[in-house]
Amino acid sequence: MFKRVLLKLSGEFLADENGFGISPNTTARLARLLTAAIAGKEIELAIVIGGGNFWRGARNGAGMDAATADYIGMLGTVMNAMALQDAMETAGQPTRVMSAIHMAAVAEPYIRRRAMRHLEKGRVVIFGGGNGAPFFTTDTTSTLRALEIGAEVVLMAKNKVDGVYDSDPRKNPDAKRYDTLTHLDVVEQRLEVMDATAITLCMDKGLPIVVFDLFETGNLERLFAGERVGTLIQT
Ligand code: UDP
Repeated sequence: MFKRVLLKLSGEFLADENGFGISPNTTARLARLLTAAIAGKEIELAIVIGGGNFWRGARNGAGMDAATADYIGMLGTVMNAMALQDAMETAGQPTRVMSAIHMAAVAEPYIRRRAMRHLEKGRVVIFGGGNGAPFFTTDTTSTLRALEIGAEVVLMAKNKVDGVYDSDPRKNPDAKRYDTLTHLDVVEQRLEVMDATAITLCMDKGLPIVVFDLFETGNLERLFAGERVGTLIQT
């Protein structure tokens, strides 16, 4: 059974049907699912939210100064964090948004010990602003924050993909799903779990990762209870 987990949600979990921006309805559904999964449990939940529903530095910022493009992406993650906070609180779950980029009017600054205190008090902590540094993605933020706050696992939520496959299951009907992998397998086979910086950090620190389908009924509950769901990656 897990006690403290770090959930990585890509920005697309909040998006409209075209994968862009924030859909209040989609976000409300997501918030209800998360809130129900932790209700009445001891589990401490921290969330890193991405920003790909608005902007990905490397793709959308082609031709721009790369650091500036990445900072724009980080700002997008703060918008997502605020939307998720609003929806979770509407669903009855106390939350705090902590931003790696100081934005005192809308979010607390990220302070590690304060984040842990919020978790101990039963608040869901939503990390916005990525690492606060360009040339990273929120996959790295997930790993970094998980290590900092002592989370036992990084939960990489996927939308209708139930783990890691040897090829894209949406294109190849014979794709094989892995139940378990090592970090090294992921690196050597270049499996799409998280970006290279993030996976090597997990490998160095021995931080387990679970890749799972967020929308399969009961998956989060099973995960929190320590049951095997999706693909487990560990050393
Ligand atoms: N980003 C960054 N540093 C970070 C985290 C994010 O520069 O520590 C920028 C980067 O441009 C990235 C964008 O923010 O492409 C959005 O984050 P990400 O692509 O991880 O979002 P997701 O795909 O998870 O929605």
